[in-house]
Amino acid sequence: MEKLRIGNMEELEKKLESSLNESYKDEEFKNLVSKLKISKEETMKNVTKINDTIEELKVCKKCKGLYSCGNKVKGYVYFPEKRNDRLNFIYTPCKYKKKFLKEEEEKNIEENILDHCRMKDVKVDDKNQLKVIKWIKNYYDEYSPNKKMKGVFLHGSFGSGKTYLLSCLLNELSDKKDALTEIVYFPELLRDFKNDFSLVDRKMEYLKRVDILLIDDLGAETVTEWGRDEILGTILQYRMNSLKSTFITSNLNINELQNHLSSTKNMEDEVKSKRIIERVKSLTEDIELISSNHRI
Ligand code: ADP
Ligand code: MG
Repeated sequence: MEKLRIGNMEELEKKLESSLNESYKDEEFKNLVSKLKISKEETMKNVTKINDTIEELKVCKKCKGLYSCGNKVKGYVYFPEKRNDRLNFIYTPCKYKKKFLKEEEEKNIEENILDHCRMKDVKVDDKNQLKVIKWIKNYYDEYSPNKKMKGVFLHGSFGSGKTYLLSCLLNELSDKKDALTEIVYFPELLRDFKNDFSLVDRKMEYLKRVDILLIDDLGAETVTEWGRDEILGTILQYRMNSLKSTFITSNLNINELQNHLSSTKNMEDEVKSKRIIERVKSLTEDIELISSNHRI
């Protein structure tokens, strides 16, 4: 019995040794092992796993982004971590996944700020914002249910506070004056509709009827005739007819927005884009906000 076990062990060790020698022929294997600075014994114990890592890293080398990830767990590499001279293999996010996770985290923080901000939180140290701050203060004071009030088309540089300032106003009106308000990030609204058509009717009814609507980041979407005419056009038309307060933010000014909205291949697009712009003008006052990026 004893002899047989020793015999098996020797055979196993020979196999491991030859598998190790075979693996060393691969430059990438050699480099990774030398970087890890581990003993021969630890290397031998982990040959298969190290080879799995090498295979995944080879897939990563050719990869262009998360969408085309060819690894076992999307966005992750099976990678060794050294702890007390031992290897521990864990799924580690690749550079694309890391970027994605960081952006998601920033988005969550941002959404949390925008959900909870109120007028008292607005800092007044940026003089470029003063005109907008005065405008929102006046809107707040003047607001009462059923009063017909124009909204604002607030356009200007990235991070200047457009979404933030208007969110403070809408949150405050919702809290203190019982206004039914809604903020939609326009590119995402179109994406959600495309992913689930059953959402369209119900959500559109709501967006048409809500007391105050903020259409955030108009112009950041990819223009399609459907998004422009059926979604945006319909919402604006309805709100115009029923004189409902509508706010819009954009990184584009009104002329740039008009060009943007006519940028499909259809001949009639200029006319249709103009029609949307007329609705924007009728619903809103035009205010420009160019300032430093407050996000940094
Ligand atoms: P934009 O919509 O113009 O791209 P944001 O409204 O998202 O920019 O502003 C970016 C961030 O800057 C906001 O989330 C907020 O944290 C901060 N910010 C901007 N203006 C103010 C302000 N007056 N008081 C407090 N925070 C502000
Ligand atoms: Mg914004």
